[in-house]
Amino acid sequence: MSALRIAVFSSKPYDEDHLTEANKTRQYDLTFFEPQLTTQTAALTQGFDVVCCFVNDVIDTQVAETLKSNGVKFIAMRCAGFNNVDLEACAKNELPVARVPEYSPNAVAEHAAALILDLNRNIHRAFSRIRENDYSLSGLMGFDLFGKTVSVVGGGRIGQSLIRIMKGFGCRVLCYDPMPSEELKETGVELVALEQVWSDSDIISLHCPLLRSTYHIINSNSLSQMKKGVMLINTSRGGLIDTPAIITALKTGKVGYLGLDVYEEEAELFFEDYSDEVLLDDVFARLTTFKNVVITGHQAFFTHEALQAIAQVTFDNIQFFENGELEKACLVKT
Ligand code: NAD
Repeated sequence: MSALRIAVFSSKPYDEDHLTEANKTRQYDLTFFEPQLTTQTAALTQGFDVVCCFVNDVIDTQVAETLKSNGVKFIAMRCAGFNNVDLEACAKNELPVARVPEYSPNAVAEHAAALILDLNRNIHRAFSRIRENDYSLSGLMGFDLFGKTVSVVGGGRIGQSLIRIMKGFGCRVLCYDPMPSEELKETGVELVALEQVWSDSDIISLHCPLLRSTYHIINSNSLSQMKKGVMLINTSRGGLIDTPAIITALKTGKVGYLGLDVYEEEAELFFEDYSDEVLLDDVFARLTTFKNVVITGHQAFFTHEALQAIAQVTFDNIQFFENGELEKACLVKT
């Protein structure tokens, strides 16, 4: 039997390195495409059995139909989130979708903690000052995390990891999760209603998936219920935040600190080098002007351990598909 042909989209050198390494024991026929999978690039999938996609690849009705007519039979996402995949369109086109539900929850939780510490102690501003030979301290004052109230919205794998980290700092940790698991309860976190998250927190970190029910969960209404000067952290999905509303809240000081690893319109920006070009996204440009906003470009997952795990689970999913054991793959259910 000939090796399965796999088209890897949105491929960067680090993806190629880790997937090629993990493929040494599998021998799949891998082709790496730098562009995202979109209606324009879907034609490239002719003759492939599997497409391997990432967070900003677009799998809508048109793409799903093209994949099917090109002979693709399986979609292996090499990420946890799947809000960019139209699952109904995939089901209609007999395209099962698998994902990597867990690779390194600690990597993302630790990145959220890094954003909290950076913002709280103004590390980003101190870094620039020292390079300018400026050793003054005014404007750099932080606050102790010990004793502060930190809320985690979404107590899944990443949320639980952050709960443990913030408890280590001596914080009071609250969590809102509509379906709290036994593991979440075992962390000893205080499970509370969303209203209490908004009203009681000094720091709020988002770790829920992007769903219809969580779209713009941070909006002018929820912001109005928060403490003045609250710190917000989003390493989950950009669509959880109404960005113009948060810009207004930053201007008034309602939001005192904002740490983002994701942005609603990130597909136009992140993972590429546009340093020689003009930034055309005015909303994003405004965000970058605030001294109390730190943005990273969807790198929370980006550790060596996580990339190794992603490659392994992606190939495990593909192997289950190949062996006709789809029930063992990490399938995304419609
Ligand atoms: P998970 O599935 O383990 O946990 C998600 C939790 O959210 C679950 O406990 C679920 O009950 C809860 N939830 C569902 N609806 C909710 C709601 N309306 N309000 C609050 N909580 C709700 O997922 P995870 O592995 O912890 O990942 C969380 C999110 O992090 C993913 O959805 C993904 O978007 C994001 N992520 C980002 C990166 C990155 O690099 N920035 C990497 C991996 C994952």
